[in-house]
Amino acid sequence: MSKVIILGSSNAIPTRHSENTHMVILGQERMVLVDSVSNPILRLEEAGLNFNELTDIIVTHFHPDHASGIPLLLMDMWLMGRQKPLNIYGLHYTLDRVETLMGLYNWSEWPNFFPVVFYRLPIREMTPVLSCPDFVIHASPVHHMIPNIGLRIEFPNTQRVMAYSCDTEPCEEVVRLSQNVDILIHEATGESPGHSSAQQAGEIAEKAGVKKLYLIHYPTGKFTKSDIAAEAKMAFQGDVALATDFMTLNFETKPPFPILEYIFKMEESVGKTNSDDNQFYQPEI
Ligand SMILES: [Zn+2]
Repeated sequence: MSKVIILGSSNAIPTRHSENTHMVILGQERMVLVDSVSNPILRLEEAGLNFNELTDIIVTHFHPDHASGIPLLLMDMWLMGRQKPLNIYGLHYTLDRVETLMGLYNWSEWPNFFPVVFYRLPIREMTPVLSCPDFVIHASPVHHMIPNIGLRIEFPNTQRVMAYSCDTEPCEEVVRLSQNVDILIHEATGESPGHSSAQQAGEIAEKAGVKKLYLIHYPTGKFTKSDIAAEAKMAFQGDVALATDFMTLNFETKPPFPILEYIFKMEESVGKTNSDDNQFYQPEI
């Protein structure tokens, strides 16, 4: 099993049908939540998933529309009797604040609380985040108001690759992160400091040689803008679509194009860095 389910596609102001942007990556062994908004167990349950089966959470950055659901998620896991460890990945800036936030809730005194392992990532392009048989995830810093990461997710069984820009201005880091990917999910909040317009997302996709662009983190409800997909298409030759809540991207089928050698190079670097470069990977329980 290798798929990604979009759990929310809206910018910071959600509607009933479009939650704040977050997603889940599913493999045989791992269930990885990318950002935790509102109370994420509701969206996970609606997607047919058991939140207690989450193995990992990647927190891209410490803005409320990406990280405010962490305390409720951890508390609900605890109340449901979770005992297995949970891995949480993010930049130092992000995880320091997650710890402070949980400290305000006095989590160290919650009895029989399960182990939470923090993996503090350096601000460095193509940092290995996690690797399992179904997917390999790398992170690169992107240009937002606070430290933030975008992700590159490779599915070695089918040689398919996806990238996610997260919240960012147009930047070369995302071009490199999404080089030749099958799918780029790029934010389209609108042109403003720390964000991008749909057209700018299209420009990045074009530069990176992306096959398909999905726009995400766009204005919804009464703030909806007319045809942002068409706006992106003005700058991008490939397919463009809007990511929507509960959209499932299936990476189980092989692509009808040549295998990207690049994927295997990345895998080698993952193994090496995870085992040999411990200064960046100090798990803290
Ligand atoms: Zn943000």
